[in-house]
Amino acid sequence: MHELSLAQELVEHIARVAKSENALRVERVVVVIGRYSGVEREAFEFAFPFAAEGTIAEGAELLIEERPATVWCRNCNSSSHVASTHLTCGNCGSTEVALTDGREFMIQSIQLEVPDR
Ligand SMILES: [Zn+2]
Repeated sequence: MHELSLAQELVEHIARVAKSENALRVERVVVVIGRYSGVEREAFEFAFPFAAEGTIAEGAELLIEERPATVWCRNCNSSSHVASTHLTCGNCGSTEVALTDGREFMIQSIQLEVPDR
């Protein structure tokens, strides 16, 4: 499964960050998933606990922030959100558009439990 390998990469990254901060555990991870990233939210949410099992990220809360797809229209020079899988301008319906947002798949933040200093 595509999402499982993504989740494993994410967990590896989190583990590196947690190690460099001497964290005891990972409390929460916020991940941004764009509508055109090709990542399926449900599948990713399902895969994450499996990927985190046995790592410092085990039991971490996963929060997902979905980003809509945004296009820039060359026909009417405006920006709009697209809801469907067809990339068309929300203003004039033109297909002369470029995707400007919505391909993201990234970690927004990681909250760690660190020992008292
Ligand atoms: Zn337009």
